[in-house]
Amino acid sequence: MTELLEFKNVTKVFSSGLLTKTSTTAVRNVSFKLAQDDPTIMTVAGESGSGKTTLAMLLLGFIPATSGQILYKGTDIKNLRGAERMIFRREVQAVFQDPFAVFNPFYTVDHLLTVPIKRFKLANSKSEAHEKMIEALTAVGLHPQDILGRFPHQLSGGQRQRINVARALVLRPKVLVADEPVSMVDASLRANILELLQSLKEDHGVSIIYITHDLTTAYHVAKSIMVMYRGTVMEAGSVDRIIKKPEHPYTRLLIDSIPWPDLKRRWGETDIKAREAAIEDISEGCKFYGRCPFAMDKCKVFPPLFQLNEEQAASCYLFDENKQIASEKLSELLPV
Ligand code: SF4
Repeated sequence: MTELLEFKNVTKVFSSGLLTKTSTTAVRNVSFKLAQDDPTIMTVAGESGSGKTTLAMLLLGFIPATSGQILYKGTDIKNLRGAERMIFRREVQAVFQDPFAVFNPFYTVDHLLTVPIKRFKLANSKSEAHEKMIEALTAVGLHPQDILGRFPHQLSGGQRQRINVARALVLRPKVLVADEPVSMVDASLRANILELLQSLKEDHGVSIIYITHDLTTAYHVAKSIMVMYRGTVMEAGSVDRIIKKPEHPYTRLLIDSIPWPDLKRRWGETDIKAREAAIEDISEGCKFYGRCPFAMDKCKVFPPLFQLNEEQAASCYLFDENKQIASEKLSELLPV
């Protein structure tokens, strides 16, 4: 398998304060791979503060890793220069949660789509640029004649989010980082945007890192998942397996908080509950220690990943009879 993108033991620490330095580990020892010739959709899930947006910023090259490597086509992105850097910038695109933020109210949609075409010199003439815009808008299910020439306020939230995707698509990306792309879109339009992500993978060969706090959408869109909590991977593997049979106490808590439309299933029926009053937090051990009802003394040392089956691993001492796996081997358990 040739790697398109690889996270190798990536850690990001933010430091603050001049005299008394404090540091926060936003992402700790995360590894995964995306293959060149096998596009996939991988979900990174967690609540706010889990490190998922920091992961997106690292992946896009907006912030440097404190340690570890982020490789794009085999080269550390911090070493990319000139033409190689431009290729990375073009091929790794993002769609963020706020479909309103990227629009300048004074410009029409055409402007938003023309800027990346000009910046990356993707067209030799105005008519070629126009064709590319039409192609991208059609690919995201919009009718170009209804969209081009319009101002942002004349469009719905769903249309704007599709235009954001078209803006990324016009650059023919290989990787799309979709950071909570449906959280600010009406519920009725969510399924459409999720279908769109799937068609980008199927029809355009784009691998997608789908970042969300919403495990139900993850279930519908992705094949694999990494569940994060306070910067660390708690559980990872096949979406199907993890949503249906979560093992890590944190994942079980997350899944149990979903109001499933299943009359036989009772909300809150699983035995896992977070502790109401957190016991003292520990900096070196399991990040879920303060809320975990199963916390033990040994959890004060950071738990490694244990392989639970061929498609699932959890960072938790409840499974320490299982085989321990190195973080960089996690990709082997993530289906594409
Ligand atoms: Fe709970 Fe310990 Fe497992 Fe962490 S390692 S989730 S504290 S049992």
